[in-house]
Amino acid sequence: MRVLVTGGAGFIGSHLCDALLGEGHSVICADNLLTGRMENIAHLSHEPRFEFLQQNVCRPFDCGKVEYVFHFASPASPDDYLEHGIETLQAGSLGSMNCLELARKYNARFLLASTSECYGDPLEHPQEETYWGHVNPVGPRSVYDEAKRFAEAITMAYHRYRKVDTRIVRIFNTYGPRLQINDGRVISNFMKQALLGEDLTVYGDGSQTRSFCYVSDEVAGILALSKAGEHDPTNIGNPAEFTILECAQVVLEVTGSSSKIRFEPLPQDDPKQRCPDISKAKQLLGWEPFIDLRAGLRMSLDYFKSAIQAIGAGA
Ligand code: NAD
Ligand code: UDP
Repeated sequence: MRVLVTGGAGFIGSHLCDALLGEGHSVICADNLLTGRMENIAHLSHEPRFEFLQQNVCRPFDCGKVEYVFHFASPASPDDYLEHGIETLQAGSLGSMNCLELARKYNARFLLASTSECYGDPLEHPQEETYWGHVNPVGPRSVYDEAKRFAEAITMAYHRYRKVDTRIVRIFNTYGPRLQINDGRVISNFMKQALLGEDLTVYGDGSQTRSFCYVSDEVAGILALSKAGEHDPTNIGNPAEFTILECAQVVLEVTGSSSKIRFEPLPQDDPKQRCPDISKAKQLLGWEPFIDLRAGLRMSLDYFKSAIQAIGAGA
């Protein structure tokens, strides 16, 4: 197939490009480099089946005939989407519409990268796909949450009204090599702080929970979903749940760091608990993650060390 990956120069998108090339497809990566980096796809520069298109997907574009559109373009870390609020709303709305139009034009299948943030600060735990969420529509995080909820709505509308063959993946916190070192997410912050011997900054009292999925498990789940005939949203994440304080301790253990923990204020509307119910993915796709947090962090250690050296060298 000839496949389009928007946001393909980002963290998950670049791993998805690798996986799709590995399956024998040709890949066009469309990215405006707002939060992504050419380094993430530098290893593909001599790959004849890979093409990079510098493109803001919020403007209409046509990359020629494709058989599959994977729409991953959007700022994703809280620091990034709070800095680029309008661009985030545009990526979820205009960007999703342009990508769906492209899929409709070429009769291509379409997969939307959605998020566990659609559940907001959830009142049901763990989160099943049938839960509609608890989202502050006007708070600071709404630029991301509501953009993704709109993206899901327009994806379902293109499926219902325009007969586009669509899928929606709700991605839960994912980490691994190529996670941007300075994007403020908890894993990148803690790994950087631990390796530099700085205090680990735990927001609030650290009792809030997250469930962390290693990127190769996440991409395997996304690919499995892309081949299934399911149109309603599907959670893909690792259900092993950690408090943020436990996460800090695992990072200290894996890095062998003697950094201390420093408590800082909790950001507004920070979800108190998050854990995917993956029964649907298990049943539908025969998929489940198998890399636990300690193993995944060990597998990411060399990447984080070299990313820190690169910032040190001003790269
Ligand atoms: P990322 O910031 O590393 O990647 C996003 C990519 O999209 C970047 O390369 C960026 O330059 C590009 N982009 C942003 N706006 C664009 C635009 N208008 N036009 C073209 N390109 C644009 O983030 P990521 O973690 O790889 O996230 C990828 C996708 O997965 C996002 O849609 C995100 O919402 C979703 N997601 C990620 C996580 C996670 O834990 N990483 C969790 C839930 C959902
Ligand atoms: N967090 C933290 N210290 C940090 C960065 C994040 O305690 O240096 C917390 C944050 O408040 C949230 C959790 O870790 O409760 C996950 O944050 P992240 O930004 O990675 O993603 P989120 O799941 O909130 O989108």
